[in-house]
Amino acid sequence: MQKQRAYYLNGYQTKIKTTVTDCKIGKKGYEIVLEDSCFYPQGGGQASDKGTLAGQCVLDVQEREGILYHTVAQPLEIGRTVEGEIDWNYRFDLMQQHTGEHMISGVAYKKYGLHNVGFHMGKEYTTIDFDGKLSPEDVLYLEKKVNQGIMENRAIQIYYPTKQELEKMEYRSKKNLETDVRIVEIPEYDICACCGIHTKTTGEIGCVKILSADAYKNGVRLKMLAGNRALEDYRKKCENADKISHLLCVPANEIGAAVQKLKKEKEQLQWNVNHLEKEQLLQKAQGVNGEKAIFFETVSSIKALQHFANLLQERASFAAVFSGNDKKGYHFILVSKKWDMKRVMKKMQAIGVCQGGGTAKMVQGKIEANQKELRAFLEQSVLE
Ligand SMILES: [Zn+2]
Repeated sequence: MQKQRAYYLNGYQTKIKTTVTDCKIGKKGYEIVLEDSCFYPQGGGQASDKGTLAGQCVLDVQEREGILYHTVAQPLEIGRTVEGEIDWNYRFDLMQQHTGEHMISGVAYKKYGLHNVGFHMGKEYTTIDFDGKLSPEDVLYLEKKVNQGIMENRAIQIYYPTKQELEKMEYRSKKNLETDVRIVEIPEYDICACCGIHTKTTGEIGCVKILSADAYKNGVRLKMLAGNRALEDYRKKCENADKISHLLCVPANEIGAAVQKLKKEKEQLQWNVNHLEKEQLLQKAQGVNGEKAIFFETVSSIKALQHFANLLQERASFAAVFSGNDKKGYHFILVSKKWDMKRVMKKMQAIGVCQGGGTAKMVQGKIEANQKELRAFLEQSVLE
């Protein structure tokens, strides 16, 4: 059995010298029980610590019925003294995310009466779910208030109140706890029952950035970053803003308006292209006057192809329009007021994989075939 857990007493302990008390084969490797441990297990939305134990990589740390199981690839002899070391950079990053989350949840509770009902620390960002809505102004307030508390570098307190003391306290907790309740207090920000690992001071969180606030169930889901992760995100965003700024030749803080302008210009150009295309198709259709009209055109959209087919329907007893190429296949529309187009489409299956549907007067679909064969096929008496 474990005597104690070093990480409860000191979240900054990175190394431990201890004794192996049990070793059994598990699903992912050998599960080692130690007399004491500085490894934090997976739980409460937080991943387990990484590191080494007796020179082996620690693959996983799980807690079951109060006992910590450290998974390694090779067995370790019971009674042996071993040294363990956690991956400190990884651990400290989790401590920053977790303590930052406390501050956000604490302010959301104090200011808006919202409860944290879900929390997940992912590889990229942390999500916090609240049981009520937050406006964009509320989210901005949360972020500012939390960062103010970080700059004030408040000392974080951890204590175990008596049952009587606990009854008088107002604290956040997801469970009904009675004994050995570990309280984590960030003065003026948060009082919460928590078994996780936190930074000693708020200053060590570095900074907190709320990335987004989306409606989730009956409340809101915040995505957040703290510490180096937030700084790295800022660096990447600056890099992107800088690239766009150079491409558009505007200062970085004006790229939003510049992209909006670009989008409007693109819409205007698209309108002009559509208009010219319609004019061009109209001219081609006006040149038709007869029984059969077969066209292979590269048009901008299916809508343009439909427009062309409609124009041709008035001027030919049968019209076939195609857009595409031999390699990828052709979108097509067949129209006629005289013959059954469904029948013609069925016959087209003889020269390539053909899918589509419609009415006797008009069918639309896609065919994998080449232009030469399609033209030759339709010029034959397929209408009979
Ligand atoms: Zn905590």
